Amino acid sequence: MIPAAFDYVRAESVDDAIAKLGSADDAKLLAGGHSLLPAMKLRVARPATLVDIGRLRDLSYVRADGDRIAIGALTRHHDVATSDVLRDGCPIVASTAEQIGDPQVRHMGTIGGSCAHGDPAGDLPAVLLALEADFVVKGPGGERTIAATDFFTSLFETALAPDEILTEIRVPATHAGWSYLKFNRRALDWAVVGVAAVAMNGGAHVALTNMGLTPMRAAGVEEALAGGADPAAAAARADEGTAPPSDAFASDGYRRELAKVLVRRALEEALG
Ligand code: FAD
Repeated sequence: MIPAAFDYVRAESVDDAIAKLGSADDAKLLAGGHSLLPAMKLRVARPATLVDIGRLRDLSYVRADGDRIAIGALTRHHDVATSDVLRDGCPIVASTAEQIGDPQVRHMGTIGGSCAHGDPAGDLPAVLLALEADFVVKGPGGERTIAATDFFTSLFETALAPDEILTEIRVPATHAGWSYLKFNRRALDWAVVGVAAVAMNGGAHVALTNMGLTPMRAAGVEEALAGGADPAAAAARADEGTAPPSDAFASDGYRRELAKVLVRRALEEALG
């Protein structure tokens, strides 16, 4: 439970972090440390250098920006959960952040770290996928924007290049119906399965937590709804295209059935 030896440097700005990432071999950014440090202690991650961005306060904000809301990547889960801008303008994001871990995790973990880590069991990624959020990233070549559908590429992998930093996440301001349902055994546990549903574009966007290698849209459900199916009929297709894990908490078959139940309930809440 002791990490392998590593060098530690603290970044003074986003550009300084990018330069430090580029100049050290096998460097990784350290934000809240609540996913990376446990992985290092288990030695499933062994970066040679940690570039600490945890004190870059100018990446910690929530701002209304026309019909979008911009969230700085270093905004802690607690600040997302208690943001008036999000509670008023995109409550599913605030409500989901409130369901992450325990108060200690929420005061240290960041929304950017949750997404960059690429863990399919993370709660916010599925919500951001359902909302069709945009991810703003910066690297040596400048800034680019990645759509949520392209951001999560595989297990613990994202579209971020090794020398890029996620700086901002943009979500639509929406007062339409929404629901994030997380099934876990104890209040502070990770989701066995989670379901995000948002009424959008005359139908609903539905995304799943912990049902495969990445957070994913429930394409079969969305197709059924677009064809006029009611929530119960659409939810029967919740596991189409998924590949849920079997682990100490649940088998893949259990997760498939659970997803159907949670999708139905989430749709009834979001569209009711
Ligand atoms: P870090 O651990 O610092 O970094 C994670 C990864 O992202 C690293 O690879 C790092 O290099 C990279 N990274 C971080 N920030 C950036 C950035 N801005 N740009 C590019 N790369 C970056 N999460 C849930 O969703 N639901 C839960 O119920 C939950 N329960 C938890 C319970 C416990 C006990 C613990 C320890 C964690 C739990 N988490 C849960 C995870 C928590 O939300 C983490 O904080 C989060 O996944 C990672 O955020 P972080 O800021 O700590 O990132």
